[in-house]
Amino acid sequence: MTNYINSTSHRGHNAIVPGASGCGLKEHEVAQQIHDKFRAVTKAVDATDNVGRTANANLVNIVNKMNAVGKSFHVSHHLNAFNGQANGFEVWYYAGNAAAKKLAEEICAAVCKVTGWVNRGAKATTSLYVIRASTGSAILIEWGFVDSQKDMDIMAKKMDAAVNAALEVMGYNGTGGNSTVAKKVNYQTKTGFYEVIKADTFYCEPELKTKSGWNAAVGQRIAVDEVVKIKGKDGTVYTRGKTQLGSVTRYITLRDDTLKKL
Ligand SMILES: [Zn+2]
Repeated sequence: MTNYINSTSHRGHNAIVPGASGCGLKEHEVAQQIHDKFRAVTKAVDATDNVGRTANANLVNIVNKMNAVGKSFHVSHHLNAFNGQANGFEVWYYAGNAAAKKLAEEICAAVCKVTGWVNRGAKATTSLYVIRASTGSAILIEWGFVDSQKDMDIMAKKMDAAVNAALEVMGYNGTGGNSTVAKKVNYQTKTGFYEVIKADTFYCEPELKTKSGWNAAVGQRIAVDEVVKIKGKDGTVYTRGKTQLGSVTRYITLRDDTLKKL
């Protein structure tokens, strides 16, 4: 298997000189999440710059960090923006660098396959600074358009799958063992009001054995008046919310990807 050692990773821009924005999102904040997932698996050195006060200073600081590490595959995480309509995924590489071109093409194919993003393809450049000025090989990934609702709806659902697909192309086991980049589910612990953010079902008992026949629909609000802790076989502690539906008591899982605390 090809193994492209990821020596540094960074997200572009910073809070002082932010990149693009759209759909209620900021480019550097979304890119940061992707970059964090990348580094969790690859252990790449973080070449992110948080202190540059101009776009140029930001780029120079990033490249200095890249070049302090040297010579393998540097990965730069960005999101595109244009007119709200343009969409899709693309990867930039230095024109003439055959290995980087191959990597860019393979990442485009793999990520677009699992996400459904439009594949805008591998793109050659001699001008993008982090690619031009860095030693070794650098690729710059545009993870969709931050101002495209279509792309960001996919991002919301498929970020982990997208990152894993890119990591697997690079030769990392993106989904295995402790190096999983899947979102960790947390369990809520407070009583009070919750909003359903993913459809679920109410159960008759906190162990969630018997479906009550009542469903929790997205947008519905639930008053949790008691939190019941359940210990799983592997020792994980799960929480269930006790609620009243009319005159009957029902239970629902308090996963943070199902219910949002209000
Ligand atoms: Zn950018």
